[in-house]
Amino acid sequence: MSFSFCSLSSGSSGNCQYIETENAKILVDAGFTGKRITELLKNIDVDPKDIDAILVTHEHIDHAKGVGILSRKYNIPVYANERTWIGMEPIIKTVKSENIKIINANKNFEIKDILVHPFNVSHDALDPVGYLLFNEMKKISILTDTGCVNEGIKSKIKGSHLFFIEANHDIEMLRNGSYPLYLKKRILSQRGHLSNDACLEILREVLMGENEHVLLAHLSKENNLPKLAYKTIYDGLRESGYDVEKEVNIHLTNRDNNTQIFYI
Ligand SMILES: [Zn+2]
Ligand SMILES: [Zn+2]
Repeated sequence: MSFSFCSLSSGSSGNCQYIETENAKILVDAGFTGKRITELLKNIDVDPKDIDAILVTHEHIDHAKGVGILSRKYNIPVYANERTWIGMEPIIKTVKSENIKIINANKNFEIKDILVHPFNVSHDALDPVGYLLFNEMKKISILTDTGCVNEGIKSKIKGSHLFFIEANHDIEMLRNGSYPLYLKKRILSQRGHLSNDACLEILREVLMGENEHVLLAHLSKENNLPKLAYKTIYDGLRESGYDVEKEVNIHLTNRDNNTQIFYI
């Protein structure tokens, strides 16, 4: 076993993922209160004081809300690029200088036995990134909050054993829904979020059909339905010839609770 992965919660109102290896325990994003994240970790028997690092994708509050409090309370190093640090400062307030870790896209770094590769994504934040995580021969990709995905990103995430990938909205639900026009345009833009259809298109290109786990993430409460996201991906992959369930495992994430723990 190389990795254990648990989405503690994911959705437009908050995101926090837990990843464990033999030597390391990390969070990717901490977009809930410290108290809530502590409760979610407790659900899976993890003590927050054992967390080795928090990796931040970007400064939006649904990803950064609890970063500062967790870092201060449990003395956890926080990894983010320079512009994300600037953007999240008003949200997370002061973090101990020794816990400020500045990273750069496309420059690998290590947290104990996890090799981390941050890569640029396209979203209306200062300098948003996704992450590839490597341990032994296994690879996880974390890709949310991006309005589009280029060939470079697809080639990076290809070959992952677990994909944590955004299926934010159904385009028709968003178009016909109650959001103000500017917000609809923002979400649909190249710097917005991936729709169910866009997620499907990416998966069609990157899945090998080798029993990968696909976790559908960051679902919108207003503009998507878990069943609809699941069906779009399930039916779409079947149409493309994947023997879904035998070759690919599709899972939903929850907006207010943890998923099961996935072992890869
Ligand atoms: Zn965002
Ligand atoms: Zn977000």
